[in-house]
Amino acid sequence: MHETTIRHGRCDCGNLRFTVKGEPVHVHACTCTQCQRSTGSVMSYSAWFPVDMVTIEGPYTLHHHRGPEHPERFRGFCPTCGTGRFFQSGAAFPDTIGLAVGSFADPAFPPPSFVLYWDDRPAWLGEPEAVPVRGQSEA
Ligand SMILES: [Zn+2]
Ligand SMILES: [Zn+2]
Repeated sequence: MHETTIRHGRCDCGNLRFTVKGEPVHVHACTCTQCQRSTGSVMSYSAWFPVDMVTIEGPYTLHHHRGPEHPERFRGFCPTCGTGRFFQSGAAFPDTIGLAVGSFADPAFPPPSFVLYWDDRPAWLGEPEAVPVRGQSEA
């Protein structure tokens, strides 16, 4: 028997905190334009855990980025500092919560198993050697 892994993450100011049990169901990165805007960076990097393995503490704001007709799809974040992002994506990744891997500030966190929407990446970004990429049509 090995012990269940417990990881702690938080937003930049520390008001919003995550505790996750066990290993993520999957980890992916995404270079779509929506992720570029919402992260302010070249890609998102998120780890997806079963809903009941995730504890979220502290205040958060939910943004329904696909509009009110998709209440099952949202991004959450700390209302004070705007970081500590978490997500639900409805049918795309059912019964899981995605957490921004950067919240864990852990260099040993599992790498993404794929990068989505590679076609939308910034032109200067080279293809990673260790992680397969998928274009928009395969996302
Ligand atoms: Zn914060
Ligand atoms: Zn994306």
